[in-house]
Amino acid sequence: MAELADLRITRLGEPRYDSPLAAFVAGRRTNEHYVSEDDRVLYHDTVSDLDGRAPDPHSWPSFEPGGPRRRLFFAPTRTKVGIVTCGGLCPGLNDVIRAIVMELALHYGIGEATGFRNGYLGLTPAGPDPVRLTPEVVHHINQHGGTMLGTSRGSQDAEVMVDRLVELGIDILFVIGGDGSMRGASKVVAEVARRGLEIAVIGVPKTIDNDIPFIGQSFGFVTAFSRAAQSISVAMVEAQAAVGGVGLVKLMGRHSGFIACYAALANHEADFVLIPEVPFALDGPNGLLNCLHQRVKERGSAVVVVAEGAGQDLLELSGATDESGNARFADIGVHLRDSITRYFAEQGSALTLKYVEPSYAIRSVRPDPHDAVYCLRLAQSAVHAGMAGRTDMVVGRRHNRFIHVPISLVISERYSVAPDGDLWMAVLEQTAQPVDMTL
Ligand code: ATP
Ligand code: MG
Repeated sequence: MAELADLRITRLGEPRYDSPLAAFVAGRRTNEHYVSEDDRVLYHDTVSDLDGRAPDPHSWPSFEPGGPRRRLFFAPTRTKVGIVTCGGLCPGLNDVIRAIVMELALHYGIGEATGFRNGYLGLTPAGPDPVRLTPEVVHHINQHGGTMLGTSRGSQDAEVMVDRLVELGIDILFVIGGDGSMRGASKVVAEVARRGLEIAVIGVPKTIDNDIPFIGQSFGFVTAFSRAAQSISVAMVEAQAAVGGVGLVKLMGRHSGFIACYAALANHEADFVLIPEVPFALDGPNGLLNCLHQRVKERGSAVVVVAEGAGQDLLELSGATDESGNARFADIGVHLRDSITRYFAEQGSALTLKYVEPSYAIRSVRPDPHDAVYCLRLAQSAVHAGMAGRTDMVVGRRHNRFIHVPISLVISERYSVAPDGDLWMAVLEQTAQPVDMTL
């Protein structure tokens, strides 16, 4: 559990400039637009969590709120900004890029930013040249999925990346990426500090699996599970139309099964949900194969939703990794497909199995309106934080407030579905699958 000290945000120095935002709301010059530097967003939202704490709320764990500051560290109009997107695709990357550029231009008078291409590779001499990002360049990019800057995996040297930032005179670097990208960002921060430079590094956490802690829901997640729910519907329609119909849907979720849970709950159509956090067996009375066979006998068809990281203990792992060092997972979807096919044949039961794997069709889409708004507001919060001289932090949202979270905290653990929590309980109630499928 985080304490107040863990939630402290690093500042490059005392603010030096007045924000131009007051001028922006001309005719209505008001303080209300600004976030008070004394305000905090409470970490806890449950009374029992606060039992035994000192009565002064200022001593309670709390986050620095996001939002525009009256006084800035970096000069409006003159600050140089870099943007990089790293890791896998996720709906909303272009929306975040666009909103950063527009916020800089419209509110801080900074008419262009430097777009580093293909992830951290673009911050090294070996990478592609950067691109100029102006409001004109980014104007329509949110009409497309993906990232206009491209992305990459693979390790880059923080010293080399900081050399590049210095060479280009970058004052603020925005990193839009996942847990690995934030580890990379943390190394850039350390190198910047070692050299005593005044360069801010601000993260906008990107994880389609929603597995980054402390930031609330990640952008693109709602879009992703909405699309995934459509795939579950497709699988169900196929299964219901067939003799011995089984729809098998493999979704994203390497370590955290949020997409599988939410997509299954969204349309009430899944009979079994399998996630990395909850082990299951194939054999045995409560194992998947027997339960699925029973369900098809009772109802004529069934739908199984499996997250890509589920049941890895049932498979032989190759030990292979991707360029960033992440373990390559064995294919649980194919393994289930083959096991189900074999089992139904052994039982002499008819089976028509439809295997649906929509991952790429989900990662590459534009965000839905909910996520589009969220991307925009996260990006605005990130720009405000950077201009105010914050560094070594990411933006997130808690209790409906935008917040600043130290990078060290978001890479300290992974957010996952609690097997004894209310989300998983909701899934168990909806699917009526056995609570313990290993027995
Ligand atoms: P996702 O997992 O959602 O696709 P990610 O940001 O975790 O996104 P990775 O490929 O793991 O994706 O990492 C992105 C970039 O961050 C890569 O260039 C990778 O080399 C770098 N990176 C990852 N882990 C570290 C680390 N521990 N130290 C420095 N750089 C890292
Ligand atoms: Mg990752």
